[in-house]
Amino acid sequence: LTKLTDIGEFGLIARFSPRFLSNLPAGVVGIGDDCAVLPWKKDARLLVTTDMLVEGIHFLRDRIRPRDLGAKSLAVNLSDIAAMGGKPDSAFLSLAIPRGTGVEWLDRLFKGIGDLTASENIHLLGGDTTRSPGPVVINIAVLGRVHPARVKFRSGARPGDEVCVTGFLGDSGGGLRVLLENRRQGRDEAYLVRRHNRPRAHLAEGAWLAGKKGVTAMMDVSDGIDSDLRRIMERSGCGAAVELEELPLSGPLRRAAAVRGWNLYEVAATGGEDYCLVATVRPDCLPGIARGFERKFGRRLSRIGSITGERGKLRYRLNGNPAVLGRHGFDHFR
Ligand code: ADP
Ligand code: MG
Repeated sequence: LTKLTDIGEFGLIARFSPRFLSNLPAGVVGIGDDCAVLPWKKDARLLVTTDMLVEGIHFLRDRIRPRDLGAKSLAVNLSDIAAMGGKPDSAFLSLAIPRGTGVEWLDRLFKGIGDLTASENIHLLGGDTTRSPGPVVINIAVLGRVHPARVKFRSGARPGDEVCVTGFLGDSGGGLRVLLENRRQGRDEAYLVRRHNRPRAHLAEGAWLAGKKGVTAMMDVSDGIDSDLRRIMERSGCGAAVELEELPLSGPLRRAAAVRGWNLYEVAATGGEDYCLVATVRPDCLPGIARGFERKFGRRLSRIGSITGERGKLRYRLNGNPAVLGRHGFDHFR
């Protein structure tokens, strides 16, 4: 008998998905990218994505304010729309709630969701509500749109492309460590926890990068680049080399890691839930795109490595020497 712990989350998806990929109508992109893509109008494709947050797995009810939890539940979905270069339009919310849950707690959860639907001009159009025998479960699905000529997939990376990220890596993973270590928090720790509990989807960055022909592939960083880059490699049939000293690290993360003895590169590459974007860029286009990005967003598009022809091999280097990470990106079952 095969155990889930042997094949992992991604092994499971690879096991069942072929059956549902074999007979898709023309123009439909199914399982395998950040969103499904469906034909819609001449100047727009329909994007669909869904993500679930389970109490005890994705959050601890006593370590996150309900308002932040509501906003995060939606933000993680918006991040998948951003990864395709799209704009979100509407959302559906399904909740499983244990009987004893406070109504005021739920009011605040909806406040957090409503903050973000209002600021991003998204309409909550439906959902489902049930009782849960144990954990709170929050599932949101988001529909969005993208111009057919701009949509970016995980599959477009080619050897020689540069690998870039749109924000700091590891802050959220650091924040999670702070929450789990349960020690007193200073300013740096509070910043990291905030980044973990209240991530921002890089919608503007994704839409801007989608307009650039030189961007060959894009996805959001949800499981850590160690895991997410492997998804791009699989879909694009290539390998990648990452220079650890190039990973963009915030001041608070550097200081907290020094104080608490964390391996900075491990937190940055495998921590996950950063919800920035990772994009591959044709090398001849990178200088122009990086300059434009900095002008537009006031911060750097960080180059962290490159795509190689070594199919399935993700190599790390630190200051020119081969390096190995002691842990891997997030997988629900491994
Ligand atoms: P993301 O983190 O961007 O949502 P994942 O890497 O978790 O994407 O999932 C990879 C792909 O597998 C996505 O296209 C996702 O929609 C699909 N997928 C994951 N779980 C299921 C499932 N239970 N049924 C169908 N498709 C799934
Ligand atoms: Mg994603």
